[in-house]
Amino acid sequence: MAPQLDSYFKTVDDLSDAFIERLRKAVAIPSISAEDDRRPDVIRMGKFLASELTALGAEVELRELGKQPHKEHLDLPPVVVARYGNDSKKRTILVYGHYDVQPAGIEDGWATEPFTLTVDDKGRMYGRGSTDDKGPVLGWLNSIEAHKKAGIDYPVNLLMCFEGMEEYGSEGLDDFIKEEAKKYFKDADAVCISDNYWLGTEKPCLTYGLRGCNYYSIEISGPGQDLHSGVFGGTAQEPMTDLVNVMNTLVNKDGKIQIKGIDELVAPLTDDEKALYGDIAFTMDNLYESLGSTTGIYPDKERTLMGRWRYPSLSLHGIEGAYSAPGAKTVIPAKVIGKFSIRTVPDMEIDAVNELVYKHVKDAFAAIGSKNKLNVFCQHAGKWWVASPKHWNFTAAGKAVEHVWGVKPDLTREGGSIPVTLTFEQATGKNVLLLPMGSSTDAAHSINEKLDKKNYIEGIKLLGAYLHYVAEEPITS
Ligand SMILES: [Zn+2]
Repeated sequence: MAPQLDSYFKTVDDLSDAFIERLRKAVAIPSISAEDDRRPDVIRMGKFLASELTALGAEVELRELGKQPHKEHLDLPPVVVARYGNDSKKRTILVYGHYDVQPAGIEDGWATEPFTLTVDDKGRMYGRGSTDDKGPVLGWLNSIEAHKKAGIDYPVNLLMCFEGMEEYGSEGLDDFIKEEAKKYFKDADAVCISDNYWLGTEKPCLTYGLRGCNYYSIEISGPGQDLHSGVFGGTAQEPMTDLVNVMNTLVNKDGKIQIKGIDELVAPLTDDEKALYGDIAFTMDNLYESLGSTTGIYPDKERTLMGRWRYPSLSLHGIEGAYSAPGAKTVIPAKVIGKFSIRTVPDMEIDAVNELVYKHVKDAFAAIGSKNKLNVFCQHAGKWWVASPKHWNFTAAGKAVEHVWGVKPDLTREGGSIPVTLTFEQATGKNVLLLPMGSSTDAAHSINEKLDKKNYIEGIKLLGAYLHYVAEEPITS
């Protein structure tokens, strides 16, 4: 196998201080996409990436996406697209990451300044964006620099797509990817996204699936205005009573969805798939620790992971219009909207799920025989994604993990969604791999976000090694 890897790894180690310095510079730019007055910083961060890439010899373009929908006074930050290498004999890998971050302020409870990278004695590098997603994005740049300094030919052509609105719904990106799939991204043989995390802290993983999400509202109304229970209690049919009755029919205490027909949409568990769960580094204590309680549904790891990854779930989220403040107000709400969502999995199609939900809710409401009015609708829906972990893209990444970390990676799915994954797959028609750098304790989106120095430096080796193995994989599809 690629003998140059040893000298690549050594160069990464030699350059590790410079790579941490690069991360420090990136973290210092508060590129918060959700805050209007930080927009210049988001744009500054995009330009920082562009200039670093240019200095490394990549061809870079800043692509404007126009005005922000519903906030026309704001320009969307540019998508940074770049190409490193243009050799038709090499494979081309398209990588995605984002350079914007979640909001953060010391007043939220951070132990250190969120925009000052602070390394503690255990090598934990604290700072907003360290793990999500500036560390991984810079990982690709660092892999280029280490190859140059080591005098090793870069093993593939690298196409890069770095956006600045990920933490705010990736505004404008879907259309951009679809538009560029046959243009800027046309040479891509496969896609790699580094924007998720290991399942635990010890063992790396490759992620091949994500659940989708259908989000619903059940609106029940009757009286012309809110009422007082002293006057109208016992005389009017109450929307809230109806809604609680209807919501009570959706799911039981063990998370079992009560909507008829949902189970039939779920792809059956195969022996091949079942076999993947046994080796996964995860314990019930990991669950209890992250839950903050021992109130799990299942006693065992396999069924727990399946409950999170490969079976659908239904969660009740809230009731709009219900009295929720402290105290004892005796209001009867005139209109209430119950919110719930279903995390979807193969082979649940969005429309088929909607139909079953609408029928179930209407039937449950009809069974009450109330004179109130019902309206049920889907607020938004995003589809699940599952890739083949047997594709060469995954095989190459698996070999790279083994080489760098000395263990076979866990093949994992995730319970949540990263919508851009499906967009890349559908737009390019290529295999998409999620190759995380950080671990489960990195606290992306929370206070004290960090990336372990080890995950960063070994992660840079991993990204480079992955590309070398990609170059060696036999072409099968
Ligand atoms: Zn992210």
